[in-house]
Amino acid sequence: MKLRLPFQQHTAETTDFDAGREKACVAESLVRSASRLLEQRNDRDIIHRVCEALTLATPHVRLAWTWFGPVETPCIVPQIVVGPASAYAQKLEIDRSFLTEIGPAFRTLSGKRVEPFNVSRMSLYGPWREAAAMHGIRSAVSLPLASTVNADRGLLALYADVPDYFQQVGIGLFEALADMFSSVLSVAAERTLLREAAYSDALTGLLNRHAVDVVSRPILRSSPLDPPAAVLMIDIDHFKRVNDNHGHACGDLLLCGMADLLRRELRKGDNVLRWGGEEFMVCLAATDIASATLVAHKMREAVAMHRHPLPDGLPMTTTVSIGVADLEIGEPFFVTVERADAALYKAKRQGRNRVCVASGTIDAAPITGTDSVADLRHRPANTD
Ligand code: GH3
Ligand code: MG
Ligand code: MG
Repeated sequence: MKLRLPFQQHTAETTDFDAGREKACVAESLVRSASRLLEQRNDRDIIHRVCEALTLATPHVRLAWTWFGPVETPCIVPQIVVGPASAYAQKLEIDRSFLTEIGPAFRTLSGKRVEPFNVSRMSLYGPWREAAAMHGIRSAVSLPLASTVNADRGLLALYADVPDYFQQVGIGLFEALADMFSSVLSVAAERTLLREAAYSDALTGLLNRHAVDVVSRPILRSSPLDPPAAVLMIDIDHFKRVNDNHGHACGDLLLCGMADLLRRELRKGDNVLRWGGEEFMVCLAATDIASATLVAHKMREAVAMHRHPLPDGLPMTTTVSIGVADLEIGEPFFVTVERADAALYKAKRQGRNRVCVASGTIDAAPITGTDSVADLRHRPANTD
């Protein structure tokens, strides 16, 4: 009776191995894929495509995986996995422990040089090495990745089906590959930082107006099948008086307190932006107009109840006016914003500290005015 192995067994003996030819083949694949780097959309795609080119160029590199993140991570789980022995990495989860901290993955992560090694069942990491051997893996190397932009570090792990593969082909080639990935990750991290800075409001830490395209894109509706969504435009009432009576620094504190309050009222997937001055925009995903109006009332009520601790004396209260509009199918986002803005100005004209629903909103929500949220659930429809 034959013993059935859980994985297809692979033996290097089936393929000839010539170190010189292999070196030329790996080098060519790396140079070719490096020349096409800019065709990829993002850092993950770049790394994936280069690893893919490597594992296609030679049958001897059976697996390449990378992990990248904070150096103090409690666990390393391969993020990008490529090659015919991918099934091995997909099951891999390296938790930080006394044993794994002296193993190749965590040692590489901590910046220590790890020499290429052969897979041996006798090693401290016997069970892993045995599983790797089942996938035709005979040797491995773990190379460091580091971003020059932030403190993140990572590793590129490569596995081959020939003992001493990496020494025979020349470790320098694979180190160059890890350096190339480090540069890719640095550029990506730099781009993220720039985007964050460009989209962040320096005073409140909220997103700023430039982020509107990013936050609106996922909630736009092009067909009736798309979930409902809504926009709230929120403006602090008589904010100029705060500056005039308490000073600009107190005004700034109030804006920060307001940002915290609004953030607290939102669910995951919703977004709040500082639209400008003392005006905020909230984007509510998967929310119909009735629910959006209820959210607006909750926010109005939360603001009115809140005591802002200002350094110049007694805690201060303030109120907001809010305009609500839902996204109509096919409507450009700036039109929804204009309708929400018009509703906001109606709320101002009607005396402030209130919520108004935009006209043009079908099945408009039942709620306007300054009623408490508890009273609002059973009101008849009314858009004015
Ligand atoms: P309304 O109820 O009609 O909205 O009145 P308002 O006083 O809130 O509105 P107005 O547009 O007259 O005044 C807004 C003020 O917000 C004027 C401006 O100086 C102030 N402001 C804008 N940005 C900032 C900021 O970053 N910090 C501070 N402290 N004040 C700001
Ligand atoms: Mg105002
Ligand atoms: Mg204003």
